[in-house]
Amino acid sequence: SIPLGFFGGIGGASRNGILIKGSNYLEALNSVDTVVFDKTGTLTKGVFNVTEVNPSSGYTKEDLLMYAAYAESFSNHPIALSITNAFGKTIDKNKVESYEEIAGHGIKAVSHGKEILAGNTKLMAKAAIPHTNADTSGTIVHVAVDGNYAGNIVISDEIKADSKKALIELKEIGVRKLVMLTGDNKNTAHKIANELGIDEVHAELLPHEKVETVELLDGSKSRRGKLVFVGDGLNDAPVLARSDIGVAMGGLGSDAAIEAADVVLMTDEPSKLVSAIKIAKRTRNIVW
Ligand code: ADP
Ligand code: MG
Repeated sequence: SIPLGFFGGIGGASRNGILIKGSNYLEALNSVDTVVFDKTGTLTKGVFNVTEVNPSSGYTKEDLLMYAAYAESFSNHPIALSITNAFGKTIDKNKVESYEEIAGHGIKAVSHGKEILAGNTKLMAKAAIPHTNADTSGTIVHVAVDGNYAGNIVISDEIKADSKKALIELKEIGVRKLVMLTGDNKNTAHKIANELGIDEVHAELLPHEKVETVELLDGSKSRRGKLVFVGDGLNDAPVLARSDIGVAMGGLGSDAAIEAADVVLMTDEPSKLVSAIKIAKRTRNIVW
């Protein structure tokens, strides 16, 4: 039978905007050893602003933004929204003849009769497009037009207001290891991790590599408690399902992620995880 105190704990959590899908997860939250965070949309706002437009010779800033915006016009990725915003003009979607989103890489589209690639180093490498990696802390979107490098667009995300405090508190309440996973480039990932006091960073990961990384961490011999994964939901369902405790941020989360998660945070604040662990600890004191 389930001790009555658990119902109090789950109820108390739900009044704080934390949905815990069973007393076993409330119990597991007492012994969290490792917390793995997805970066974009979880620790950062996931709202990007274009900070640089760097055309290569033969292209104007206007051309570069236009090609990128048309290529991105069917994507819901936060990167796509920032580029179409920066372009600022109405996009005639009839001029996009074909479009393909390549997870963890970017976009391949045909528009204005030209083949456009917009994405990261991996996407350029796949198409053997020579490109330079600007030394910047932002996310770099490289653009190629008909096989020629057209330049890059740099966009920047911001750390959420309560991320740093939440991570400090997690350490204070006994979490041993903080890990960050991201598909974004290493420069940006390390800069954000340093600012936040993250212990271990894995960058430039494809969605399936995020699952593999969690499996490795899960099997690590030094681990003495539960592994929590926290994600904003976009493409996170497989990792959520693979963790001891999968935590989805419900504000942006997809239905698939909310379904796959064991704990759903109704707001997008990392500090809600701190609250969940504290409620679990109080509940244990009442129950046992
Ligand atoms: P994260 O792990 O930070 O949530 P994603 O897995 O969504 O990031 O994307 C990883 C990387 O793939 C991005 O940092 C970007 O370089 C590239 N990418 C993904 N989608 C797009 C897009 N629509 N346009 C350009 N680049 C993209
Ligand atoms: Mg993501």
